[in-house]
Amino acid sequence: MTTRTTLGRPLLVAETFGPTFQGEGPSCGQQALFLRLSRCNLSCPPCDTPYTWDTSRFDLREHTHRRYPESIISWVLAHPTNLFVISGGEPLLQQDRLLPIVTALADAGRRVEVETNGTVVPSPQLVERVASFNVSPKLAGFAADKDAERRINPAALSTLATSGKAVFKFVVDSVAELEEVADLEARFGLRPIWVMPEGVRSDVVVARMRQLAEEVLACGWNLSSRLHVLLWEDTRGR
Ligand code: SF4
Repeated sequence: MTTRTTLGRPLLVAETFGPTFQGEGPSCGQQALFLRLSRCNLSCPPCDTPYTWDTSRFDLREHTHRRYPESIISWVLAHPTNLFVISGGEPLLQQDRLLPIVTALADAGRRVEVETNGTVVPSPQLVERVASFNVSPKLAGFAADKDAERRINPAALSTLATSGKAVFKFVVDSVAELEEVADLEARFGLRPIWVMPEGVRSDVVVARMRQLAEEVLACGWNLSSRLHVLLWEDTRGR
């Protein structure tokens, strides 16, 4: 839908979906509406939303539509669902266009969470209106080699860590990767920390959670499942 509005330029959107359950992190299990924005500044090989950025496998024109802020606000307000999650791709690449949406929905009493890879410094205006940033810095084994210099942005991580509004969620595939999480925690003061198993199959997610649980407890961190995978495997839009 491309209803013209006075709230700014349209956003590049991959999909909207919900109500469904937030499947990850501190709000796991809560009913939520999702806006998935297109485009990303990283190119992680295990990415589960490559249709937002990977031009070698997808024609992004077929997987992108332009939506004006007012159209998205109307869609959210047509539902009673309190939690609205903005995901991607990397949503902060479009943060100027997001601000009127976040502002209108916060004013309407909705809780707005933004998921980000932690490589883009959020504006003070966005920090003020967003309820929570769910920050997921990419570990060396998850990111592409060509993103080695880009995957950790000290300025962005420090801004998010001191905002008082961020939680840090690390996708890991083995206990060995927890050392890298501990290093980033110490370097940037990242907390609270959530560890989440990599995997788009329920059996893999459960097995990795069991492998990680004791060490995550010992580190004083939190453990996240991937509820949407446990329920619906890798079905898109759930
Ligand atoms: S940062 Fe997230 S959306 Fe971007 S390529 Fe990596 S996993 Fe995919």
